[in-house]
Amino acid sequence: MEIYDGHIHTRGVKSDPPEVFHEKALSSGVCGGTVFSVHPARYRPFPDFDQRAKSRIDAVMEFTSRAPGFLPYFFADLSEPDIIDQIEYARKAGIRGFKVICDGRYSAADRIDAVAAMAETGLPVMFHSGIDNVPHVSSKNNVPSAFEPLLHVKGLRFSLAHIGWPWCDDFVGTFAKFEMARDFTDFGPVAEMFADVTPGTPGIYREEAMRKLYLAGFHAKDRTFWGTDQIVNDYAPSWTKWLFERDTAILAGIEREAKAASEAQTYWLPKLENLAESLFSTAWRRFNAI
Ligand SMILES: [Zn+2]
Repeated sequence: MEIYDGHIHTRGVKSDPPEVFHEKALSSGVCGGTVFSVHPARYRPFPDFDQRAKSRIDAVMEFTSRAPGFLPYFFADLSEPDIIDQIEYARKAGIRGFKVICDGRYSAADRIDAVAAMAETGLPVMFHSGIDNVPHVSSKNNVPSAFEPLLHVKGLRFSLAHIGWPWCDDFVGTFAKFEMARDFTDFGPVAEMFADVTPGTPGIYREEAMRKLYLAGFHAKDRTFWGTDQIVNDYAPSWTKWLFERDTAILAGIEREAKAASEAQTYWLPKLENLAESLFSTAWRRFNAI
């Protein structure tokens, strides 16, 4: 089975060269994944790094060109006045997707024009969701259901991260909402939501949150992908392996539970076999259209 790490950051500090990062990723069992550019300065400043949008785009393009299998994403600040030009520059440069953390100054709904511009490129958008660790007052913008206004952004394919911890139930409900809404074709097209289960959920919450996501009765299997939230600067294979093994064990438990439920004829559960193949591989490929 191919394993993709769908959530890797770049910090604006000293980094392993791409070849070393690539080697470390391969040694952890990961064959590819998603690499975000350095953060926008207002979200997190790195004084020794050129954090202008174009420089950050060029830097992640250059880095991933030397790490085959890893896709460059642009970490965008939707509040910047030239954001529409930045999105166009990113598309032309060959960026493969966008990463957004709604900080204290805006919610996704506030910048729906920029979200629509990203959707128009045909590229996916990965949003943070759940509590955020930097000192911005931003929780109200990162509750999963705060992303509900994305429903009618034409052509949008997006993910919400971290099972929305600590708002995991809100996350599952939002996932269900987007899935159910897609049945109502008479209202026009509905955005497609993916679940990015990259930790952010502390261990004690993880099994329960994953169980709820898969066993609530919606098609999480096809739209849930995995990542580590590590950094390219100093990627740790041991951490990737540990997360992979822990989550594989959680999935096995969910499959057992689903099987028992289907034997008891709980017809509302979708088929939940080979979850690992979907989580670590095929759902990420679908999200990234490869
Ligand atoms: Zn992250």
